[in-house]
Amino acid sequence: MTVEAMTETDYPTSESFSRAFDPEVVRRDFPVLQQQVHGKPLVYLDNAATTQKPQAVIEGIRKFYAEDYGTVRRGVYELSARSTRMYEDAREKVASFLNAPNSQEVIFVRGTTEAINLVAFGYGRAFLKPGDEVIISAIEHHANIVPWQLACEATGATLKVIPCDDRGALIMAEYEKLLSSNTQLVAVNHVSNALGTVNPVKEIIDKAHAVGAVVLIDGAQSAPHMPVDVQALGCDFYTFSGHKIYAPTGIGVLYGKMDLLEKMAPFQSGGEMIETVTFEKTTFAKPPNKYEGGTPAIAQAIGLGYALDYVTGIGLDAIAAYEQELLEYATQRLLHDVPGLTIIGTAPEKAGLISFTLADAHPLDIGTLIDHEGIAIRTGHHCAQPVMKRFNVPATARASFAFYNTKEEVDKLVAGLHKVIEMVS
Ligand SMILES: *Cc1c(COP(=O)(O)O)cnc(C)c1O
Repeated sequence: MTVEAMTETDYPTSESFSRAFDPEVVRRDFPVLQQQVHGKPLVYLDNAATTQKPQAVIEGIRKFYAEDYGTVRRGVYELSARSTRMYEDAREKVASFLNAPNSQEVIFVRGTTEAINLVAFGYGRAFLKPGDEVIISAIEHHANIVPWQLACEATGATLKVIPCDDRGALIMAEYEKLLSSNTQLVAVNHVSNALGTVNPVKEIIDKAHAVGAVVLIDGAQSAPHMPVDVQALGCDFYTFSGHKIYAPTGIGVLYGKMDLLEKMAPFQSGGEMIETVTFEKTTFAKPPNKYEGGTPAIAQAIGLGYALDYVTGIGLDAIAAYEQELLEYATQRLLHDVPGLTIIGTAPEKAGLISFTLADAHPLDIGTLIDHEGIAIRTGHHCAQPVMKRFNVPATARASFAFYNTKEEVDKLVAGLHKVIEMVS
């Protein structure tokens, strides 16, 4: 069986995406952005919830289904061999995207939620005991709170929370006070989806390691927006979701250090994750297969590979720099030109998203009214109810940026908010 003569030249590669960065040009790669909503050009500003897909991803997946689709890891026939190779190529792309030393440390999962649950189960429930402590922060997504609460309840361990200040920055002196020889695990997000705060994760990781704790970084909001190097960070686990980085839903990544992945308990059991099965005893396959029981999301993983080619073609440095420019522009315009607007989350280090309230307008009304202007923003608690409580608001409106957004769209947001003010007053 040979898979050498396959398709590599027909599929998009990172070289085919390389070009100088211009938001007006990259926008054209996203078919969904080329439409009107309620008679107005669509302004899509809910990128922290999910991102749109470039043609390279859509077309790559179509072509895979049309020409190469088969199951992975099992078949000896041509289609299965091709699919397996493409699936494993996608794993290699993720490894190089994160600068992971070994692609076998990359586990494909459904998304960040599943990745954190995997660690909370396989590491948390397997190794925590009464007296142990798990530290999270006050500005986490529910996905990085609830699995730890459940793991602590099940094992008798205790959950501790790093507080944040009024800007939404973590109070590092309080973090240091929480750390002790009881600390087994620290789990924090790299970037808060509710406030935009960029956490000092390198410092958080180093301090945790100094007391012997293992660290998980929830990278759902960082991987799409800034370069990430898991070796430079030194984190033990890092997670992100495909759908927030221009890839399909149903696919995400857990990176874990091999020694931990080897000793952890498997999360879901079944096919492909075993070495041998008898009714007396089952021995498990090595990572990553150990954690990928069942038929995986093959096309979605391959689509993730294309999405990573696409963003690395643009360059994460260029993306980060441009999104910072948009953030600064939007912050200034919203603060100076929209009366009654308050930004929730003003930490010195922020990524491209702005949570805000608007005088007496209920955030849900803001979202509905501004939709009539063709503008999509998120309203609600952003799966971070403790953050809302900390800032004494029931909900916020949130505009979150991607590299395909423009200053002109920020201007439309400002104009849209003026209309909202007229309508609610
Ligand atoms: C979106 C998000 C999650 C959950 O990701 P899913 O893709 O819904 O599993 C977790 N953490 C943060 C910071 C997020 O933004």
